[in-house]
Amino acid sequence: MPRPIVATIDITALQHNLAVAKSLTPQAKAWAVVKAQAYGHGLGRAVRAFAAADGLALVEVDYAVKLRELGWRKPILLLEGFFDADDLPVVAQHQLQFAVHCDQQIALLEAFQATATNPDDLQFDVHLKMNSGMNRLGYKPAAYRTAYARLRALACVRSITFMTHFANADDAANPDLPLNEQIKRFLAATEGLEGARSVCNSAADLLHAELAYDWVRPGVMLYGGTPGGATAKDFGLRAAMTLESKIIGIQHIGPGDAVGYGSRFVADKPMTIGVVACGYADGYPRHAPNHTPVLVDGVRTGTIGRVSMDMLVVDLSAIPHAGVGSHVLLWGEALPVDEVAFAAGTIGYELMCALAPRVAVREKN
Ligand SMILES: *Cc1c(COP(=O)(O)O)cnc(C)c1O
Repeated sequence: MPRPIVATIDITALQHNLAVAKSLTPQAKAWAVVKAQAYGHGLGRAVRAFAAADGLALVEVDYAVKLRELGWRKPILLLEGFFDADDLPVVAQHQLQFAVHCDQQIALLEAFQATATNPDDLQFDVHLKMNSGMNRLGYKPAAYRTAYARLRALACVRSITFMTHFANADDAANPDLPLNEQIKRFLAATEGLEGARSVCNSAADLLHAELAYDWVRPGVMLYGGTPGGATAKDFGLRAAMTLESKIIGIQHIGPGDAVGYGSRFVADKPMTIGVVACGYADGYPRHAPNHTPVLVDGVRTGTIGRVSMDMLVVDLSAIPHAGVGSHVLLWGEALPVDEVAFAAGTIGYELMCALAPRVAVREKN
């Protein structure tokens, strides 16, 4: 018998969520963001489920090549661009589009073109990244046009798309200030320049669809997660990943008895507790506090004590029929990953991406 922990990836949920994303911004083309192995859902599944996307976007050059090997023929975008000169032949061979966010990349492109054996064959679609206020990757607005001109001067650059990324698009409570400031800077710095615009992640798609422009870049929403406080159901999104396991042991404890490493939980009354085959080596967050939600046989309860490598413990006091073999839902449609993540002080993205390789994955079509 394998360990009873299983992740199920629902292909129709992925397809459905992409359709929701496209319907929110019908005028724009959509990059389905598949970085981190499609947020833990698997590249092969993403290729099949996102066939209706206009392109796939990610950050890993080797996984981009893998997408080609899996048969993806439509555009692929490297969101952080290429990392060194060795990437450029790969990028050229597999026709990968890429972000350009710094002068070092432009210098590498210039050198690559200058030394190419067939320079006329080189045709790159580049995405010029603006740092409009997040202060991660990109050119500041004041430096943007210089970078644009330098790219324009390169014969190997076929098209330039204008790209930026929002720091606060998920801030539904304060939808105005930082995002508006960023979009103002972006529009001012690109005014009059010829090229497509791409600014929206999931949060912006969901809350600011008027900013869709030419290309949107939904990620987490495709997997049934939502940024910020909103829930997936509010937007008609479906959970694509379900993490399930079983109770593999039962203990009856009394007042003063402690549970797990560090004795973090101490019972103050007689309790029945269940040991679940799921731990941090499966991707469950170790920092989940007592009472992080879990469903046992469909009934809501919570964790108690520290999560250990292979096990966690749940309170079964209110679920007297539960026993060894009872079904445990860690997250899925009936228990949103965002809710579990929130209880554990993180975001659904991190839990999905952290799904460990040792967890068996099943597919639902
Ligand atoms: C990851 C990423 C996205 C997708 O973000 P979500 O919040 O998952 O929708 C979009 N654009 C860029 C540049 C990214 O790195």
